[in-house]
Amino acid sequence: MTLCPRCAHDAVGRLATSPVPGVWDVLQCRRCRYTWRTTEPARRTRRDAYPDVFKLTADDLAAALEVPAVPRCAPRPDEARQRPGRRDPLRGAADSGVRGVRPARVTSPNRP
Ligand SMILES: [Zn+2]
Repeated sequence: MTLCPRCAHDAVGRLATSPVPGVWDVLQCRRCRYTWRTTEPARRTRRDAYPDVFKLTADDLAAALEVPAVPRCAPRPDEARQRPGRRDPLRGAADSGVRGVRPARVTSPNRP
């Protein structure tokens, strides 16, 4: 049974698998949402090796403050041109209460 490295919960789901079967999986804890790839070092993937300072308990999670909102990603320049009436993503970030933070640009090896 796989335990969450961060909170020791035993309900862990698989989010993704490697394109070549059996190389790696991306797992996520159903309680604390900690997410890891099975090929990461033991300090990120095993409860006994996870740093004590970052470990959580069920009580810690019950008392946790609200998780901050993540601003929307900025559209790629070609997407922005195709949708002229689209909202400015930087205004979206300001509207969400995040000031002075430009939304992160998501890149992928398949998207230049
Ligand atoms: Zn967890």
